[in-house]
Amino acid sequence: MLHIRNYIGGQYHDPVEGGWIDNVNPATGEVYSSIARSTAADVELAVTAAREAFPAWSALTAKRRSEILMAISRGIAAHLDDLALAESNDQGKPLSLAKSVDIPRAIDNMAFFATEILHTHTEAYQTDQHVMNYVTRSPLGVVGCISPWNLPLYLFTWKIAPALAAGNTVVAKPSELTPMTAFLLGQICTDAGLPPGVLNIVQGYGAEVGAAIVEHPMIKAISFTGGTATGATIARTAAPMFKKLSLELGGKNPTIVYDDVEVGYVARHVARAAFTNQGEICLCGSRIFVQRGIYDAFRDALVREIAAFTPGDPLAEGTRMGALVNEAHMHKVLSYITLAREEGGTVLCGGSRVHLEGRCANGFFVAPTLIEGVDAWCRVNQEEIFGPVATLIPFDGEDEVLAMANGTPYGLAASVWTNSLQRAHRTANRLESGIVWVNTWLNRDLRTPFGGVKQSGVGREGGIEALRFFTEPKNICIQV
Ligand code: NAD
Repeated sequence: MLHIRNYIGGQYHDPVEGGWIDNVNPATGEVYSSIARSTAADVELAVTAAREAFPAWSALTAKRRSEILMAISRGIAAHLDDLALAESNDQGKPLSLAKSVDIPRAIDNMAFFATEILHTHTEAYQTDQHVMNYVTRSPLGVVGCISPWNLPLYLFTWKIAPALAAGNTVVAKPSELTPMTAFLLGQICTDAGLPPGVLNIVQGYGAEVGAAIVEHPMIKAISFTGGTATGATIARTAAPMFKKLSLELGGKNPTIVYDDVEVGYVARHVARAAFTNQGEICLCGSRIFVQRGIYDAFRDALVREIAAFTPGDPLAEGTRMGALVNEAHMHKVLSYITLAREEGGTVLCGGSRVHLEGRCANGFFVAPTLIEGVDAWCRVNQEEIFGPVATLIPFDGEDEVLAMANGTPYGLAASVWTNSLQRAHRTANRLESGIVWVNTWLNRDLRTPFGGVKQSGVGREGGIEALRFFTEPKNICIQV
């Protein structure tokens, strides 16, 4: 059985207290590896290694750090097939998706921040002819990065790349549900010439090793992506310690379809926005608002498009929907379908677990599910389900749809579908959301600010925002 060990000081280590966690392939239901069940003792080792590595790493020129991070990016690219297979086996997603989205994005994340640090500048302010101010930006020291299970290497690298590029050393933790690709990344970093201790990866449960990272007094900042409840727990610990915090949390994203669109084309994209990665993307549009004039035609077109997401073996070519990440999550998703029925909803398609044959007979598959007849204020439309379940809600006017779209505690992402430029602008301006896509979805330019409002998070990642988060500015004022 493969042991997924910690990567500390440039080497792999068993956990200090010797505990291991079973790692299950969600497509087969089988345990296929063991994960280090790390504790505060492992975090201590990781912090010590990171502190020792910090002076030399932060003193390197941006050009040299960039060269090493580019080598990591190339290393990920060289292992694309292995990493994509590992991601699919760990998470349940279609192999084709891991190959075309997850791993390419990890390659891009490393390359993007490796090159961004070559092109940034700091500010200068001339107060009058005798006084000049300039601003320096220094790395923080040792920082903590904690990532979730839905896009494992994609989101792990989205955090560690800017942290390392800015000159910090890192203690990072992937989700205990999807530890494999972060584990494999350790060797890629060593091969790329990353000095020992610059990146340390500790594996294990959030409440144990994740909490130990957040609590550690020498870790200066926490960059976290995950659930809103976990974000609140982390904030409670970190805030009184005056740590910098970046929290990317849950969503309940609206998709707004106006009646001036081409129904078939938009239905295809709306299905993709709802069901890609089994609906397990924080940006998935799970509340679909459709203007009444096209409601019936759109509903029928959407049901047809959803058929393309019939679950299958994630490793099979052509599979567009794989397994949910684990059994507990599958039951949570199914419980929301039951709740929707109790709340008066009609299931238009899907609605149950799917049992495949052969290798995947014991996998955690749920049919893509579309529900109508539940109003915008019921629990199914207020709480994050994070699975292949979407609801359809008719609307008449802009004010009405905006009240419903904004009427949840979340505000991460939204998509708006219309051929009217005016309507697109008006709607985008009034949406309470960190990201608004118009006539597109998951269209990401890595330079743009990424994050949510309300309970979807605090702070922004991406581009210069990420480098700002991972550095401390200093104003130097000179009188001549
Ligand atoms: P989660 O909050 O359960 O776990 C996220 C990470 O935090 C994991 O590594 C986990 O081990 C760790 N963790 C758990 N408890 C902890 C604690 N007390 N202290 C420190 N770390 C702890 O989330 P999840 O179930 O892995 O991911 C799904 C959630 O993530 C969804 O809500 C989804 O919307 C959200 N998400 C948000 C974004 C975004 O960019 N806003 C992106 C992806 C996922």
